[in-house]
Amino acid sequence: MEKKAFIPVAEPVFDGRELEYLSDCIKSGWISSIGKYVTEFEQGFARYIGCRYGVAVHTGTAALHLALAALNVGPGDEVIVPDLTFAATANAVLYTGAKPVLVDVQEDTWNIDPQQVEKAINENTKAVIAVHLYGHPCDIEAILDICDRYGIMLVEDAAEAHGSEYRGKKVGSFGKISIFSFFGNKVITTGEGGICLTDDPDLKQRIEQLRDHGMSTIKKYWHDVVGYNYRMTNLQAAVGVAQLERIDWFVERKRKIAELYKNYLENIGDLILPTEKDYAKNVFWMFTICLREQCKVSRDELMQLLKSEGVDSRPVFFPLHMMPPYYTGKAFPNSEKISKAGLSLPSSAALTEQNVDRICRLITRFIT
Ligand SMILES: *Cc1c(COP(=O)(O)O)cnc(C)c1O
Repeated sequence: MEKKAFIPVAEPVFDGRELEYLSDCIKSGWISSIGKYVTEFEQGFARYIGCRYGVAVHTGTAALHLALAALNVGPGDEVIVPDLTFAATANAVLYTGAKPVLVDVQEDTWNIDPQQVEKAINENTKAVIAVHLYGHPCDIEAILDICDRYGIMLVEDAAEAHGSEYRGKKVGSFGKISIFSFFGNKVITTGEGGICLTDDPDLKQRIEQLRDHGMSTIKKYWHDVVGYNYRMTNLQAAVGVAQLERIDWFVERKRKIAELYKNYLENIGDLILPTEKDYAKNVFWMFTICLREQCKVSRDELMQLLKSEGVDSRPVFFPLHMMPPYYTGKAFPNSEKISKAGLSLPSSAALTEQNVDRICRLITRFIT
C-alpha cells in the first residue's frame, strides 16, 4: 500500500533567501529591533499593499492593539467587530478599555455585514474593524460609506488577506489603519509578527511611539505617554524580507490550490464552497468549506475521518458571543451556522496537486 504522509492544514515555506538574511543578522550582531531588515520590511510591505507607511511589531495582535490605541480608542468607546473572527480582533478592543460590539456576518462572504454595522452604531461608536476572513475581502465600499455618514473610523484586520483585492485595490489600503499578521500559518510569515499600515504621518508616528514604550522620538528616555514594547526584531524582519520577495508566488499558489479544490468539489451538493464576489480577488488563505445540513456526516465526524487518513483540518472559529469574555445574549444566526458547519482544508503553498486530489477523493468518499 502507498505510504500516506500526514498532510498539515498549514506549514510555512522557506525556499527564498531566509537563511542568508538570518545569518547576516547573526554575523553582524543586529538581532534586536534595530537593523536594516526592519526598515526594509516595513517599507517593502507598505509598498506592496499600497500604503505610505508601515510600522512592524511583534504580532498581529499587538498591531491591532496599537492601531486602536493610536486612534485614541479607550474607555467609554464602542468598536464594532464581526462575531465570526479570531478572538484577537475583540481582545485588542478590550485591551484599550473600549467595548467590542459584535454583529453578524454575511451568509456568503462570512464577513461583517454592513447592514448590521449600521444598526449597531450609536453615539459611543468610534470605529469598526473589518476582518477579511480567510482572505475574502469585506464589502469595503458599503462599510466606508457608513463610516463617512456616521463619522466613525475603519480599521482593517487583514491578518488573513495578504494580496487579496477589492475592486483591483489591495485590502489593507482602505482603513485609517490596517493590520496584517505574519504568524507561522499566514500567507507569508516572520515566525511571529505583525504590521500596522497607514497613509497618515501623524498616526505613523503615534504608532511608532507606542510601540517603543511611549518614548519621545526626539528626546530619548522622555515618555509622554504609557506605551508598550511591541517591536519586531531584525531576525523576524530578515525572514519577512525574504518571504516578501516571493509573495506573488505565495498568492498564486494559494489561488491555484483553491482552484484545484473548487474544480474537484464543486459538484458535491452537500458542500458549500468559499465564494469570490465580483468585486473580490480572494487569496484563499485557508480553503474553508461548509457542510450543508442534510449532509450525512457532521463537520466533526468529517474532520475525524480525514484525520484517520492522515489529513489535518481545522474547524471554523467559535462565534465570539458564545464565549465568556464576549457574551452578548444576542444570537447571530449566520455566524453560528458557519461556525458549526465549516472546516478549513490543508492550504499550504507547498501542498501538491496529488495531495489536493487525495484529500478531495477522501471527502467525496466520506460524504457521498
Ligand atoms: C492571526 C490573526 C490575528 C492575530 O495575529 P497574531 O499574529 O497571531 O497575533 C488577528 N486577527 C485575525 C483575523 C487573525 O487570523
